[in-house]
Amino acid sequence: MSTELPLESFVCQNPTCPAQHRAQHGTIKLRRRYGPHRRRLLKCTACGAEFSELKGTPYWNARCSQDTVDAVVEHVTHGNSFVTTGHLVGCHRTTVTRIVRVAGSHARHLHDLNARDLKVTSIQADERYGFVGRKKEAVWDATVIDPSSKFLIQGEIGERTAALTQSLLMHARARLTDPHGLVLFTDGFLSYQTLFPEVFGRPYRPARQGSRGRFPKTAYRIPRSAAHVRIIKEYSGKRVVNVRTEIAAGTQVRVNEELQRLGYHKPNTSAVERQNATARRMNPHLARKSLAFARLRIHRESLAHLVQGIDNWCRVQRGLRSTLDVPKGRRLYLQRTPAMTIGLTDQVWKVRDWLSQPQGVSCRA
Ligand SMILES: [Zn+2]
Repeated sequence: MSTELPLESFVCQNPTCPAQHRAQHGTIKLRRRYGPHRRRLLKCTACGAEFSELKGTPYWNARCSQDTVDAVVEHVTHGNSFVTTGHLVGCHRTTVTRIVRVAGSHARHLHDLNARDLKVTSIQADERYGFVGRKKEAVWDATVIDPSSKFLIQGEIGERTAALTQSLLMHARARLTDPHGLVLFTDGFLSYQTLFPEVFGRPYRPARQGSRGRFPKTAYRIPRSAAHVRIIKEYSGKRVVNVRTEIAAGTQVRVNEELQRLGYHKPNTSAVERQNATARRMNPHLARKSLAFARLRIHRESLAHLVQGIDNWCRVQRGLRSTLDVPKGRRLYLQRTPAMTIGLTDQVWKVRDWLSQPQGVSCRA
């Protein structure tokens, strides 16, 4: 490890520990060092559990070095297939798949822990297809992105159905501070329109007519602060011949306010479509016009989570850079990642540091 994390930043890895989330009170002590790399074995004084400082990270119990794990993650998230990555790094492809699976579940855990209480005023949602098992079995990636910071709020994998859309929007909503104050931009997929009031509206119970019979079903009121815009593309064959926008819920005033904030002239889904292209370049399972698919669904899901995490925390985007008040030598700009732009952190995370983050410990500044 490049720099050792201080003991206060660990939490007990025993799931039934009484002091699990009070590690900063000094319950974690150094027990001893072990192995050729002098790793730390930690002990929780509250429950007596002993665990490695790497427990819960992709490096824990790995048979290869930390450098190999980092290299595998870098190669795979730059769009190299598992076999190619194995050749480049010098390990077997099954080692690559194992690292991707562990790193993917680590990425999902970090996302659940850190992507909370996000302050956004608009989101864009879309789906892109990919394949599992063979080129005939389409499995879709659905994404929700914040267009102003390009932060990926939620990703879901499954068949392109209303259930996928519902799970996507519900999980995205749970990560926001104010789910009733945003504008949703989507394509013409009908599920978004039917689900929008239920997910982003406020529920109320309409009055019963008279005093007999059953109470009416819960209805949803769209707050003035919320709106849903559909961008509907009309195709002739594979060619887009016309793009039509439609306000499916909310007011034109609210939509105009949001467009001005984002600096757009008209409603669009450009952020999520740009992300679709980026994800296809980063994820070897999504390469287009090639025989690209994941052999197993678990690989598909793990890699999607890994790519999402690396994109949010470790990769800077030119469009997100901000001008420095005082230039540092020849440097005029501060390069930023989506997580920095949305205000979760103030640094570009190195892949090593991001993968070493212990289970249960937040990355937020
Ligand atoms: Zn404990």
